[in-house]
Amino acid sequence: MNYDVIIIGAGPGGIFSAYELSEKRPDLKIAVFEAGNPLHKRKCPIDGDKIKACINCKHCSIMSGFGGAGAFSDGKYNITNDFGGTLYEYIGKKKAMELMHYVDDINLRFGGEGTKLYSTAGSKFKKICMQNDLHLLDASVRHLGTDINYVVLQNLYNHLKEKVEFFFDSAVEHIKAENGGYTVVCNNKEYTCKYCIVSVGRSGSKWMEKVCNEMAIPTQSNRVDIGVRVEIPAEIFSHLTDELYESKIVYRTQKYGDKVRTFCMNPKGEVVSENTNGIVTVNGHSYEDPAKQTGNTNFALLVAKHFSEPFKDSTGYAESIARLSNMLGGGVMVQRFGDLIRGQRSTPKRIEESFTTPTMTATPGDLSLVLPKRLLDGIIEMIYALDKIAPGMANDDTLLYGVEVKFYNMEVSVDENLECCHKGLYIIGDGSGITHSLSHASASGVHVARNIASK
Ligand SMILES: Cc1cc2nc3c(=O)[nH]c(=O)nc-3n(C[C@H](O)[C@H](O)[C@H](O)COP(=O)(O)OP(=O)(O)OC[C@H]3O[C@@H](n4cnc5c(N)ncnc54)[C@H](O)[C@@H]3O)c2cc1C
Repeated sequence: MNYDVIIIGAGPGGIFSAYELSEKRPDLKIAVFEAGNPLHKRKCPIDGDKIKACINCKHCSIMSGFGGAGAFSDGKYNITNDFGGTLYEYIGKKKAMELMHYVDDINLRFGGEGTKLYSTAGSKFKKICMQNDLHLLDASVRHLGTDINYVVLQNLYNHLKEKVEFFFDSAVEHIKAENGGYTVVCNNKEYTCKYCIVSVGRSGSKWMEKVCNEMAIPTQSNRVDIGVRVEIPAEIFSHLTDELYESKIVYRTQKYGDKVRTFCMNPKGEVVSENTNGIVTVNGHSYEDPAKQTGNTNFALLVAKHFSEPFKDSTGYAESIARLSNMLGGGVMVQRFGDLIRGQRSTPKRIEESFTTPTMTATPGDLSLVLPKRLLDGIIEMIYALDKIAPGMANDDTLLYGVEVKFYNMEVSVDENLECCHKGLYIIGDGSGITHSLSHASASGVHVARNIASK
């Protein structure tokens, strides 16, 4: 065997597998294959000046490379079993929490010291939300911020590069089960190992699907979350964000009984675009450094859509909606809430005259031509519900960017060790469909590393 362990993907799942393995078993020979670039070479060409929209680079620097999809994220590590994935269903709630705290300690040691840990415990907002038919989920949130998150990743890389062999610009093409181990095919070369950890995240979802088909690994999928990113003056939500930083609030719509939730809250942050498999969607982040903060807060409002038989392609459904918005807006579209309610498109003039200044250049348009009625009705209902706990939320100048999609990878069938039907092949992080967050993906990496280390 060339290696004891090969890890595919250098996102949080892959990084924390490599970290834990190298700590527990320094005798093992470990390699990490990553489709994207090292951290210092990750640069999205969109500068808002010469390049305004996505040019579909070979590897998307936002989604790929050392640090994975989370590298330029807001670095919000939510320590909770209430959202962010269902890791606890495999390893138990207590173990999942322990691992998330363990990851938090490592982040603090590698540069995150001094960052704030927010908590919903004892918050008065729980009651205020309930009184208005809204539900605040329990969590502790470590907010590293985009800047400190980068420093932590840089320090982790400097620590790991002495212990682990990294291959960048190296997308793995195939995995073959042979000779009691695995052969990984990359750039027309073959590398063998005893154990293989697959942690390819959302950007690797199509590839993961192919691997599962080739290796007859059972999967299931049927969920997608679709919605918009809301941008408001930071003052409107400041009473919530000052105390909780991120509040995950869930609402059940009266019209259809669908669940709508707030997601990825970025106080004083900026709205950004994201490219998944060539489709441009919207996202957001914020900085810990006050000099880089803006006057706006942004967060997503997402409607969860579960499909039943015979329809299976929930990702395809969401991609079609996102493609429609790309077709009409040439990328991300923006609309004032007042324009949406009055049934008119936002124009460049109306956006220019808006009291809320957009932090991202997007095409003014009409989201009702893009989002299905049921989803749009749910979002509008939720905006009015939130207006009761944060007056101003339903103002005319509230900006809605579309579309935001939360793709869920199909869920791969694994056991309590996150090992699939092929012994020694582990599937973790967002690529497994089990996690959807930095803390759960990282925790899954530690979990499999400990399992392999104990063998
Ligand atoms: C803009 C943005 C902001 C976010 N903000 C937050 C946040 O604040 N808090 C939070 O909890 N979550 C956030 N997320 C989600 C979070 O980043 C992911 O949940 C997390 O990164 C998942 O980790 P992972 O290791 O499973 O996968 P990823 O981070 O996606 O890493 C997978 C890696 O595998 C590589 N890869 C894919 N296919 C192959 C292949 N065939 N061969 C080799 N390498 C391959 C990819 O290039 C990638 O680098 C955000 C995501 C984005 C895009």
